[in-house]
Amino acid sequence: MYDFIVVGSGLFGAVFAHEAAAAGKKVLVLEKRPHIGGNIYTEKQGSVMVHKYGAHIFHTNDKKVWDYVQKFAEFNRYTNSPVANYKGKMYSLPFNMYTFHAMWGVSTPQEAAAKIDQQRKEAGITEPKNLEEQAISLVGRDIYEALIRGYTQKQWGRKCTELPASIIMRLPVRLTYDNNYFNALYQGIPVRGYTYLIERLLEGIEVRCNVDYLDPVVKGEMDAQAKRIVYTGPLDAYFGQSLGALEYRTLRFETERLDIANYQGNAVVNYTDSEPAYTRIIEHKWFTFGKDEEGNEIEDTVISREYPAEWQKGDEPYYPVNDERNNTLCSRYKELADKEDKVIFGGRLGEYKYYDMDKVIARALEVAEELLR
Ligand code: FAD
Ligand code: UDP
Repeated sequence: MYDFIVVGSGLFGAVFAHEAAAAGKKVLVLEKRPHIGGNIYTEKQGSVMVHKYGAHIFHTNDKKVWDYVQKFAEFNRYTNSPVANYKGKMYSLPFNMYTFHAMWGVSTPQEAAAKIDQQRKEAGITEPKNLEEQAISLVGRDIYEALIRGYTQKQWGRKCTELPASIIMRLPVRLTYDNNYFNALYQGIPVRGYTYLIERLLEGIEVRCNVDYLDPVVKGEMDAQAKRIVYTGPLDAYFGQSLGALEYRTLRFETERLDIANYQGNAVVNYTDSEPAYTRIIEHKWFTFGKDEEGNEIEDTVISREYPAEWQKGDEPYYPVNDERNNTLCSRYKELADKEDKVIFGGRLGEYKYYDMDKVIARALEVAEELLR
């Protein structure tokens, strides 16, 4: 009998499993994919550490979480500063004085604030009701149209007027010359990749890959062997989508190795117009400053184009679509989840929440504390 069977070896599952094993519990981790790590999985392609399921930059203001991850892996001091390509012109992100200068030629915070204020007033928005109104209130119409509208519609497959304002609130707006994408005290990327971090968390714990817990035969066998289940797969899938399907966005990555040292001069370049169909190109080597683990310059490069799409059965669900319809359906699934005494639902898919890595760790530690007390 296992004290806990953990479904999913992503960050939530790995942190929970680690804490439970450290508390002396007998733990088994099941993973549907052929490898551990969920979406933060990284793998070497030649000398380049590739973020297989999209670029991941660890950032947090939570010292407890930062100290926690340091116990398992050394982090570099990578600072995320993507640039946006709109019709061939380059703009700094997030929205800051460099962006305002490139857009309007303004050079002081006062001039930038006046420009934003004027565009907000022209739009007549007092209480933003959706992503479009929120974006125009924050940065004005010019920046909304060049840097937000096309990107967001590609990313979410919906008009900005149909999306919640909260999505755009993830990005800082600053009247300073500061291209750091995150307002975070701590930021970096594990020097040996995220898979190494997960391996360390799962050290000494039984893990079975290529096992789908929701396969009825597997589920029957596993439920019989577990006192409790920690489930980090999609919430609606657990209930066979009995109340209807929650919507997700999926991604398709087109990855290629190029025999040149420098493709785009930055780790992340966003394409913010409605064309091309991809949202961003990642050049993975710049997450480690163009060097391998021994500090040698990497001579070639690997890039990934990221194409968003509506999730269909069989795709990986990457992003929950936290609009009103889905959030309402999600709360009905949560009522069902509350009745499952033996099962705890966690993580981005299990809670249907647009969680960053630090929030996932904080939540997994909280759940572990409650269950292991
Ligand atoms: P997951 O990583 O999705 O893990 C769930 C695991 O459960 C998966 O391995 C899955 O295969 C497995 N599973 C599902 N169903 C079953 C089943 N039936 N049986 C067995 N196994 C199952 N966060 C940041 O902080 N910084 C970033 O820069 C950042 N960038 C991101 C970029 C992209 C493109 C995406 C999609 C997310 C990004 N995130 C970022 C968020 C980050 O990926 C998540 O916070 C984190 O990975 C969530 O971990 P998790 O364990 O909840 O989910
Ligand atoms: N966004 C945008 N233009 C950009 C980058 C982001 O409009 O160049 C918007 C878009 O709606 C996106 C949201 O800001 O979904 C949050 O961006 P973030 O980079 O946090 O997205 P993630 O890394 O989670 O995909």
